Formats: sequence, structure tokens, C-alpha cells
Amino acid sequence: MNATGYFTHKDCWKHEMGPGHPECPERLDAIEDRLLVSGVGDALARREAPLAALGDIELAHDRMLAAALRGLSDTLADDIKAGGPPYVQIDPDTLLNVHTWNAALRAAGAVLAATDSVIAGEMENAFCAVRPPGHHAEHNKAMGFCFFNNIAIAAKYALERHGLKRVAIVDFDVHHGNGTEDIIRGDERILMVSFFQHPLFPFSGAEAHDGNMVNLPVPAYTKGMEVRELIEMMWMPRLEAFQPEMIFISAGFDAHREDELGQMGLTEQDYAWITMRVKDVAKRHAKGRIVSALEGGYNLSALGRSVEAHIRVLADL
Ligand SMILES: [Zn+2]
Repeated sequence: MNATGYFTHKDCWKHEMGPGHPECPERLDAIEDRLLVSGVGDALARREAPLAALGDIELAHDRMLAAALRGLSDTLADDIKAGGPPYVQIDPDTLLNVHTWNAALRAAGAVLAATDSVIAGEMENAFCAVRPPGHHAEHNKAMGFCFFNNIAIAAKYALERHGLKRVAIVDFDVHHGNGTEDIIRGDERILMVSFFQHPLFPFSGAEAHDGNMVNLPVPAYTKGMEVRELIEMMWMPRLEAFQPEMIFISAGFDAHREDELGQMGLTEQDYAWITMRVKDVAKRHAKGRIVSALEGGYNLSALGRSVEAHIRVLADL
């Protein structure tokens, strides 16, 4: 048995938001290249992501959000046939093309299938190389490159469909996971721990928040060692006390010092360290169960190296 699964789908390459957009299909190529060259990919159980069922999307989102996105997608196809532009704009940074709908369902479907496989014991943990990312998508709103909140959907799914009692969400993206916070607010079965650069898009998360969240806003130019100390002091005691039965990771790698969407100073060694600490908690309380899904990470070289470092720890390589 391969201890670590790797879930993706070619549809996740087809969603794109125009020339020069940082959330581009080449991000997945950078990850695949690095896994191939390093040999790490050979150690993973590779799986094709299914399309998520709408009933599962609705564990985290209003039915109207999915209906609206579906409607925009259908209208776009008609408009393109009539000679219109190839995108519909949702916000200044977030656009749909004709493949976005399927890519979004594959991204959520990957995380749900990974959840099934890990809970079934087919693998100890899994990484989902998916886009569009999810952690900015709120229960009724797509925004910030995100359409459906892949990790929040999977956390709810583990509770509702698999009967787990407590799950944790770890979000180490440089941006605040406003969408995840919006969806899990007040749900005491879920503990979310995160750090994020503040102030930075979406400019939320630093104010007082619910008891089921540990938000650590940090200023620009914070280095990895300082983040590690904060994690040790602020995340670890809460994670230990919560005793999650499974851990989901919103794995954004844009706090890397080479990433220009944030101004933080992490390196791939810091991502390896964070993954190791999360894995320690998973080993003690959750039978090692971790499902991690790609969020941000826009410097292609740094992204490839960081995902490799993250997966090496997950897979004990
Ligand atoms: Zn981000």
C-alpha cells in the first residue's frame, strides 16, 4: 500500500482566467514536474478525481451559489458561440471560462474522494493537486480565485457522511481563509487554525472571532522561524486539546519568500516543518488521517519545491 494518495484531474488544467493571471494551469505543471524529477511521484497512489455531487457541495454552500455558477457557465457557452468574450468576470481577480464549472467540481471531488480513501484506510493521507482553489469561497459567494470551498466541503462531509465527531482544518496560505471561516463559524465540531499576512487580501480575520478558530495575523516580512514559534505556542496546544479524528490542510504556499502575492519569508523547509507538526497531531489522535489540498502558491519554482517538501513529509520519504 502507498501511504499517500495523490488526487488530480486533467479538467483542473482547463480552467484559466486569462493571460498573465497568477492562478494559472502552469502551477499544476510545476508540481507535476517536481514530483517527476525528484522521484517522489513514484511513491504516491495516483487517483483521478471524480466530479463532486451537488448534494455534497451543498454541505458547505447555498444551493443558489452552485445554481448561479452553473447558469453563468451555460450562458457563457452560448455567448461564445455568438462571438462573445471567453470569460465571465465574478470579481476583479476571478473569472469563469467554459471549463471552470467542471474544474471546480473536480477540485471538490478530489478532496471528497481523498477523504473517502483515507477514512476507508486505503491510504494514510493524501494530497490533492487541484485548482481552482477554495478557501476564499464563502457559503454564498465565489471570490478571490475560488468558486467552491474544497476543504470546508470535505470537513463537513467527514462529519455528516462519515460520522466523525471532530475534525481540524489547518490553513497555512498567506491569505486569510475567509470562506472557510464563514462556512464553519459556530460549528464546534470543527477547529480551524491558521496564520496569514495582515493586512493583505481579503483584509479579514484579524478582528475577534469565534471560539472554534485560532487566527494568527502576522505582519509582512515575518520569517519562518517566527511563524514556527507562533505555531508551537498557539496552534499546537489547541490541536492537542481538540483531539481531531481527521485533519484537513488548506495548503497554500504563497507565504514562501519567493512568492510575490505575499511578503512573508517562509521556505520549503518551513512547510516541511509545519507538515511534520500537523502529522504528529494526526498520528496521536487521528490514525494519521490527513487530507491536504492546494490553495495558493504563485512562484512556480517555489511552488514545486514546497509541494515536494510537503508531500515528502506526508509520505515519509
Ligand atoms: Zn493565498
